[in-house]
Amino acid sequence: MTNPARDDRPALDRWLARAFDDDEPVRFGSGWLSGTASVFLGVMGLLAVTVLWFPEWLSTARFRSLYPMPLVRAAIQAVIAVGFALGCTSLLLRRRKVLGLVGVGLSVLAALLGGGSVELPGSLEARPTLGLDWFVLNLFLLALLFVPLERFFPRRSGQSTFRLGWTTDSVHFFVSHALVQVFSFLILLPAVTVSRFFEPLPLMARVHALPLIVQFVVAVLVADLAQYAVHRAFHRVPLLWRFHAVHHSSRDLDWLAGSRLHVLDAVATRALVLVPLQLLGLAQPALHAYLVFVSFHAVFIHANVRFDMGVFERVLVMPRFHHWHHAAADAARDKNFAVHLPWLDRLFGSAYLPKDAWPERYGIAGDPVPEGYLGQLTWPFRAQV
Ligand SMILES: [Zn+2]
Ligand SMILES: [Zn+2]
Repeated sequence: MTNPARDDRPALDRWLARAFDDDEPVRFGSGWLSGTASVFLGVMGLLAVTVLWFPEWLSTARFRSLYPMPLVRAAIQAVIAVGFALGCTSLLLRRRKVLGLVGVGLSVLAALLGGGSVELPGSLEARPTLGLDWFVLNLFLLALLFVPLERFFPRRSGQSTFRLGWTTDSVHFFVSHALVQVFSFLILLPAVTVSRFFEPLPLMARVHALPLIVQFVVAVLVADLAQYAVHRAFHRVPLLWRFHAVHHSSRDLDWLAGSRLHVLDAVATRALVLVPLQLLGLAQPALHAYLVFVSFHAVFIHANVRFDMGVFERVLVMPRFHHWHHAAADAARDKNFAVHLPWLDRLFGSAYLPKDAWPERYGIAGDPVPEGYLGQLTWPFRAQV
């Protein structure tokens, strides 16, 4: 539980709260939900239009050819129109107009800048870019899926989307997506290097010939075995724990909390998981299916949702299993390392899942990790753990 005498909120949390908070209710019909959604859609619309204006700098080169542009353009127009309409709704419903005004203002600005119909140049130079397109696309789709899920099936019903540290986790999310070019290069580097130095193994051809669904299952199993080993090392080796402690510093869990990862932790873990996947010789569609699966599953297991999944909970990691990994309780420390297959922890003797119970508290005793992004980035180099 947060110590009420200690305001740990990062400066950005406090600044946004001062700008937008008021003492009016936030229930449905109060104009809060429409106003907040309007600001979110306004920001998304404006960022998307900015990408259309500067695609050579702000869009990810290897995704450009994959975008169905007519659909993307229609989606941007819809986001701007809905953001505008929700902003107007909030202006009508709420006494304090700041949410509605900001939402309407952002939507109008995005429309004035050309909305979804901004012309794109015929060809673009290959140069280092910021993956703003990748950030907007992921944030938009994940928020669209998980914010309603957390409202309708909450594990903690009183927990706001704007809980302690939400801005810090948004910055983590932004950095890992906007710098996708650098991250992908670093993450792929060990796998590419290993494959250069090794002759193709006979096993590779056999795996490659398996049906895609079987290759996908093999990918999940091998990836989680590698992830289990790396994750356990990050808990047990004191130097590595300093970096992984950043991920465990969340005192509230939700879909965005999983993004809180020190860049070195994120890059090292993903890079080491990709090495055995590369050595398996998986077909591209199977590997891509795994990458899509892990990006959704990793978000889902942190989400503030509760579903009664019965026996399925024993086969695939569900939020309750990973929430115990983040529990502050002593009995749960260094448990539940698997992120996909909970039975790996049963196999290796590190499972902890009290029947039907959820953790009371999350985080690390004493809350040693600071709440701001830069503080978290530098903390492992300063910490005496
Ligand atoms: Zn961990
Ligand atoms: Zn986690």
